[in-house]
Amino acid sequence: MATIFSRIVAGEIPSYKVAENDKFYAFLDINPLAKGHTLVIPKREVDYFFDLTDEEIGEMQIFAKKVASAIKAAYPCIKVGQAVLGLEVPHAHIHLVPMQSEKDMLFTNPKLQLTTEEFIEVAENIRKNFPGE
Ligand code: AMP
Repeated sequence: MATIFSRIVAGEIPSYKVAENDKFYAFLDINPLAKGHTLVIPKREVDYFFDLTDEEIGEMQIFAKKVASAIKAAYPCIKVGQAVLGLEVPHAHIHLVPMQSEKDMLFTNPKLQLTTEEFIEVAENIRKNFPGE
């Protein structure tokens, strides 16, 4: 059965899309640690991040770099932090979180409650700053 993230890529489940190319897809985390918290996934379904090929990890990181740059432009922060957990959804993903302090990367923190309108606005703000391919 397809993962929830593959179903998002297929358009079967809605997402707040931030960027996409032929191999990777970026969308807002629905339980954000901060405004701009984004997930980057490979379209190819692989559970464990480190089971991706060397080439995929390289290309995914370059794609994530562009997404991080767009997040930082839209939501000024000290740095965009990156984390790979993957304990909840068995489809490799990178978390990108705009950080004002180290504490913003604590996944045990309470998550932000955003309205649909706010999610739409956040995704648009990041998309506007995405440099493209
Ligand atoms: P983890 O697998 O531990 O890295 O956590 C999975 C992340 O995916 C969590 O931060 C969830 O909030 C997020 N998530 C789960 N389902 C969705 C979804 N349908 N759309 C956006 N984010 C999701």
